[in-house]
Amino acid sequence: MDDLTNFGGTAEERDIRNHFHAYTNARRHMDVGPMIIEEGSGIHVTDNSGRRYIEGMAGLWSVGVGFQERRLIEAATRQMEKLPFYHNFGHKSHGPAIDFAERLIDIAPVPMSKVFFTNSGSEANDTVLKMVWYRSNALGQPDKKKVIARIRGYHGVTIASASLTGLPYNHRSFDLPLDRVLHIGSPHYWREGRPGETEEEFATRCAEELETLILREGPETIAAFWAEPVMGAGGVIVPPTGYFDKIQAVLAKYDILFVADEVICGFGRTGEMFGSTTYGIRPDVMVLSKQITSSYVPFSAIMMNDRFFGPIAEESDRIGTFGHGFTAGGHPVGAAVALENLAIIEERDLVANAREVGAHFRARLEGLKSSPLVGEVRGVGLIAAIELVEDKATKSVATPGRLGTMMNAALLRNGLISRSMTDAAAFCPPLIITRAQADEMFEIVAKSLAELEAEEGV
Ligand code: PMP
Repeated sequence: MDDLTNFGGTAEERDIRNHFHAYTNARRHMDVGPMIIEEGSGIHVTDNSGRRYIEGMAGLWSVGVGFQERRLIEAATRQMEKLPFYHNFGHKSHGPAIDFAERLIDIAPVPMSKVFFTNSGSEANDTVLKMVWYRSNALGQPDKKKVIARIRGYHGVTIASASLTGLPYNHRSFDLPLDRVLHIGSPHYWREGRPGETEEEFATRCAEELETLILREGPETIAAFWAEPVMGAGGVIVPPTGYFDKIQAVLAKYDILFVADEVICGFGRTGEMFGSTTYGIRPDVMVLSKQITSSYVPFSAIMMNDRFFGPIAEESDRIGTFGHGFTAGGHPVGAAVALENLAIIEERDLVANAREVGAHFRARLEGLKSSPLVGEVRGVGLIAAIELVEDKATKSVATPGRLGTMMNAALLRNGLISRSMTDAAAFCPPLIITRAQADEMFEIVAKSLAELEAEEGV
């Protein structure tokens, strides 16, 4: 590295020299360098050596309609030419934001009242937490400010949203979480369920844990509960039978709001338009991003019911304005792309495709359970994971992350981009994937697993 000049060199060298990567071991990156992706088309991406991969994670759980979708490119271009920027501060508005807010209210899984626009999942969750506090003040409940999220939950990385996130990497050395953010255990039946406990009994125990925490803190101090319908970054954790019914019964008893983080689940991923529908969740607030524009442009939205919005509107009237908003919130190009993206999802019925191709793909993954290295296969719609273990009886591994890293490397070698979360290999391909492509993806998973078994000598 010492003999590199400041400019020039290969793209890899220039990346190492200048680019501090997200979610990367920053020191190690200087030794291993980047994987540079140059182009995407459909469910595939191509690297700078010309090698093509199936993007088995749809980028970051996000490129729903696939890469190089002309209709999104044209929608963005048309909007750029007409009005490349405008904002919604101080009563200003524009067509794409009005149209998309109306479309969201129209497809909402429960009656919703208003949409507030932001630019990322993190910003949206931060904004909701501020709204929760603002609302409690509006209601004359200044002590009702604590919120409850879950271990393994993922809600983003800004100060509030990283606090909501329940993963060690997002807290350690960042001096987080904030002390108003509390966590209960994750609904990971396979990992956390006790011997002999049914899924339903485990779900009951999760709800009891929530109630115990509420009573310990004082119900009058708890304002909201946060949950992804399916936990994504925490390891693709699908809730056990009855879980959300039991959780919602507790929340109703103590007048606690439900915030559904649909950043991954929203727009078809679970085989319904929203994960809330899949699991019978009746949220007060929904957080949407990622597949909202298939990530072609940064965009996110918060949908809320009248119970949530009403007091906030009153408080803003008392103060004179709602003192919160982002320059690019509701960006016209983002809103135009979001409208077109939703039109594509509806016209091609990609929700049904996620349901049908997802069921087929997951059924094939189930067949891998006979491997001595596969502890669990889980998923719903077009999101799935296989959990790797060294010892199936104890569900244990000596070095967490070792098998996951090896599996990830094998999948990449064989042409599939996946993501390992500790020892779970996740799959979340674009919603447009066909049955034949899902079979191709499965064959790579099976081949990679066989190679891993050989490496492990099992
Ligand atoms: N919520 C969930 C459920 C997510 O998966 C993510 C991103 N992985 C976020 C929030 C944060 O979104 P962003 O990275 O756009 O800030």
